[in-house]
Amino acid sequence: MADDRDLDFETRAIHAGQEPDPSTGATITPVFQTVTYTQDGIGRNKGYEYSRGGNPTKEALEACLASLEGGRHGLSYGSGMAAIAGAMQLARAGDHVVVADDLYGGSYRLFTQVLPDYGVEFSWVDATRPEEVAKACRAETKLVWIESPTNPMLRIVDVAACAEIAHAHDARLVIDNTFATPYLQQPLALGADVVVHSTTKYVSGHSDVIGGAVVVDDPAVYETLFFTRNATGGIAGPWDAWLTLRGAKTLALRMERHCRNAGQVAAFLARRSEVARVWYPGLPDHPGHDVAARQMKDFGGIVTVDLAGGAAAARRFAEATRLFSLGESLGGVESLVGYPWTMSHGAFPPEEKRRKGIGEATVRLSVGIESADDLCDDLARALEA
Ligand SMILES: *Cc1c(COP(=O)(O)O)cnc(C)c1O
Repeated sequence: MADDRDLDFETRAIHAGQEPDPSTGATITPVFQTVTYTQDGIGRNKGYEYSRGGNPTKEALEACLASLEGGRHGLSYGSGMAAIAGAMQLARAGDHVVVADDLYGGSYRLFTQVLPDYGVEFSWVDATRPEEVAKACRAETKLVWIESPTNPMLRIVDVAACAEIAHAHDARLVIDNTFATPYLQQPLALGADVVVHSTTKYVSGHSDVIGGAVVVDDPAVYETLFFTRNATGGIAGPWDAWLTLRGAKTLALRMERHCRNAGQVAAFLARRSEVARVWYPGLPDHPGHDVAARQMKDFGGIVTVDLAGGAAAARRFAEATRLFSLGESLGGVESLVGYPWTMSHGAFPPEEKRRKGIGEATVRLSVGIESADDLCDDLARALEA
């Protein structure tokens, strides 16, 4: 499916990169669980030599994800963090990166505790104000790095505005599109140069595989990333690639249901006196609502609340739900509840958490695809516990 741009997203999710296997006709891409490939002669092979460099299952996933993001090239990695570290190979010692100050905790750790020792310099800005991004750019700026929506307060960054600023400074815009997924937001079409994913979350969608991906359009950027991934080794294994590909087939269906359920849960929570504030980009009073409505197809599956009863009420609520399991991660078909203060954001200092808007009364919900009525009943019971 070399040119599938005329096919709709739902069709590409099921067919892109997934022609019947040429050697057997297998309709479903096989798991090529092999390290090596028997060669026809020295220097003569069928395009595969060793699975760190190339593996057909992995390549099927990469072609599918590239198609879904509307990019020419996809790369899969062993985790979202491996994908993020991989994309960061585009910055070398002496380069400068302008980075949004509201990032996934693992990215924050990599950018503050690992990469500065390799000579990459970071400036942290409030990217919801694009003029702050512009002010931080300078001659050595190679990358601008953003996320939208952010975790857990669901702040919205204007992707097109940031792309324009990055390009005006000869820098590339990288966006972590994990929360939105390519179904809801296609950053390359908005001007971004590099899209990264933790496929662990919505793309695989069943909380059974850790993985990451990068999608780019520029062949030269792809060559650099392909070379450094082979050199550093953070590839996805064939089984993990296969599970992720199977999950991606239903991404559109799942996201529609995630969004519908999250909208219902957000509206339900907004009516409850136990809830002081609901953060959901689909609510008109959300600060990023207008930009989200412009750059996203729908508003996603995450809802964050501040409880009126403070820390004690938030902890009680997070432990009292039954359908919402208390746990890290998000984006699976099953609903999860998290307490950012000590869980996802536990490693941030308290003043940093407060600056992000995370308080001790904050609870994050990853709304799954169960019955929304059952989910609201579960939340009602937990609020009354
Ligand atoms: C989970 C997550 C990551 C890290 O992905 P892993 O697969 O856990 O390594 C990166 N970015 C965002 C936004 C995430 O939610």
